[in-house]
Amino acid sequence: MTSASQALRMVRDALRSARIEGADFDARLLFEHVTGLSALDLVRDPHHVLTQEQLAALEAAQTRRIGGEPVHRILGYRDFHGLRFNLSPDTLEPRPDTEILVDAVAPWLRTRLTAAGSCQVLDLGTGSGAIAVSLLKEVAGLKAVATDLSAGALQTASGNARINGVADRFETVRSDWLADVTGRFDAIVSNPPYIASAVIADLSRDVRDHDPMRALDGGTDGLDAYRAIAEGAERSLAPDGIIGLEIGWDQKTLVSALFERAGYRLIDARKDYGGNDRVLIFAFKQA
Ligand code: GLN
Repeated sequence: MTSASQALRMVRDALRSARIEGADFDARLLFEHVTGLSALDLVRDPHHVLTQEQLAALEAAQTRRIGGEPVHRILGYRDFHGLRFNLSPDTLEPRPDTEILVDAVAPWLRTRLTAAGSCQVLDLGTGSGAIAVSLLKEVAGLKAVATDLSAGALQTASGNARINGVADRFETVRSDWLADVTGRFDAIVSNPPYIASAVIADLSRDVRDHDPMRALDGGTDGLDAYRAIAEGAERSLAPDGIIGLEIGWDQKTLVSALFERAGYRLIDARKDYGGNDRVLIFAFKQA
């Protein structure tokens, strides 16, 4: 008979021996996911015995993690901005750095909503819906349209809007960037693919093998998506609206120049938790 605490130690030791980065944390996430037992449950009932099914499921999860699968792909979800987002093979895992985009845009949307009585945001390439759903949660009364080229991603995003209680203010449109978007929005936000194709091979295996390539590969110079957004935004953005973008750590100058040429000016720039340039906010020059 294996107790719950013994089983947790076994997973932790197996991940440590396999030199999995963050072994202790991952062991706990997998354990809690499979058994439904929290750290507090273990303290309260240290001799709790796991069922054979739980032990088998735990071992299967451990084998997948040791095989290189990211822990959140095994769980099937990842937390972002305090909310839970289910993942699918069509969606990028939401990263903590992207929360900075949410936090940069939310106050502007709130002010706008108060002043105008209504406010709509467009999230391009929504993936799991992390940005749009977090903004809806953060700004009561806001409406969002989320686009993606992948129908699978849109399904996952809609499910995430539902489980987070904002489905009534969330709509999806299948579109290649702005191509099939209709209407005008107060703000456009996006975390587009921005890795230069030649650099994809250098990404960690966690990312390269498990995040969808379409969500990472930004073309030859990594800027294809920004060009598409800069070229198409005028038709979809309110004259006094803003564009909020996540960028690669070394792309501030290039992306700023690209949007400058298209008639926008940089009004805000934020760094990520690691001190790298990560978020740019643009407005029309004449506004
Ligand atoms: N930040 C992601 C990574 O480097 C890339 C996401 C993107 O291209 N938008 O893993």
